[in-house]
Amino acid sequence: MSDNNKKYNIAVIPGDGIGPEVMDAGLHVLTRIAEKFGCDFKTTKVLAGGAAIDATGKCLPQETVDICKASDAVLLAAVGGPKWNDLPGDERPEKALLELRKLLGLYANLRPAMVFPQLADASPLKAEIISGGLDILVVRELTGGIYFGKKGTEKTEFGLAAYDVEQYSEMEVERIAKTAFSLAEKRNKNVISVDKSNVLESSRLWRRVVEAVAQDYPDIALDHMYVDNAAMQLVRNPKQFDVLLTSNIFGDILSDEASQITGSIGMLPSASLADGNFGMYEPVHGSAPDIAGRDIANPVAMILSIAMMLRYTFGLSREADSIENAVNEFLDKGYRTPDIASDGYTKVGTKETGLLIAEFIK
Ligand code: NAD
Repeated sequence: MSDNNKKYNIAVIPGDGIGPEVMDAGLHVLTRIAEKFGCDFKTTKVLAGGAAIDATGKCLPQETVDICKASDAVLLAAVGGPKWNDLPGDERPEKALLELRKLLGLYANLRPAMVFPQLADASPLKAEIISGGLDILVVRELTGGIYFGKKGTEKTEFGLAAYDVEQYSEMEVERIAKTAFSLAEKRNKNVISVDKSNVLESSRLWRRVVEAVAQDYPDIALDHMYVDNAAMQLVRNPKQFDVLLTSNIFGDILSDEASQITGSIGMLPSASLADGNFGMYEPVHGSAPDIAGRDIANPVAMILSIAMMLRYTFGLSREADSIENAVNEFLDKGYRTPDIASDGYTKVGTKETGLLIAEFIK
């Protein structure tokens, strides 16, 4: 049960495309949680992405940064769309995400890849490979490595040459490894750390530090895997993974692969965590401009992102469980948004999905 005296401040970024639609459905569920469990959530809507460019000329206005920093957590739906595609890279809506991650110190990205047993048919993998469901947690380092390393272009005798440096400090590896091991303690106590230490010096440091951190978690089984093998194992035998720990660039690629094997991008939440309990929570999917404004987007990823926020930032596990149970009841009763619907199921839109899941909160 929540601490009734505590107020939880949440910055809310609906963003672009289907963002505002799935956010509305999510906030409906959050309101229901507040009523049922007596929690005091104060939500403040702020602009980022294309909507912010249209209103202020900037993808991440200072007011948004200030309000996010002053909040306990940030909820973000999605940003971007064709309207802003011709802008230079630094002014595009998606730049707001990179900036927010950096400014808020969000170094740990958590992406659960779950196959809901009710949706096993949606996976592109054979039934025997995912029988009994699948539950992988990808823990990706988010503010270091090649995406943030030194980069440049220079003239050489062979024409222009460009470089991006993959660099990790012991501190950066240590803190993300601790996050992964702590999460594994609450799951199946297994961490597979993915690197390319047969080739890369930065990976050799990564492996050494992960092994050192593992000494403090004697009940967790640690294995290492090269990234090329991990890409293969994810489709060959995904059930061997519990927590998959990896660097920024490897995690970017592997978490997309892991999400695709679940077959339903509209169902997958994510969390990006900073030191302490602060976090930003968002669906894995983008702004889906192809289906925006039609009340057909699946809001479950957004709703499950709210459950992650309750669990990881606010410590409200009972409330988080009640959202996850409500999503299961929604699926058990045969309701489906169009992206996951097949014959014999009851098709529902974005809004109705939010209403039904809120109704199933117990
Ligand atoms: P996308 O995830 O938006 O869409 C990919 C496909 O999945 C589309 O066919 C879309 O209709 C479908 N889809 C996505 N979410 C869905 C949902 N909730 N319910 C039903 N179907 C859903 O990826 P994209 O098309 O590559 O990108 C579109 C825009 O979103 C781009 O501008 C991109 O830069 C941006 N983007 C933003 C984020 C973010 O805000 N975190 C992440 C990825 C992409």
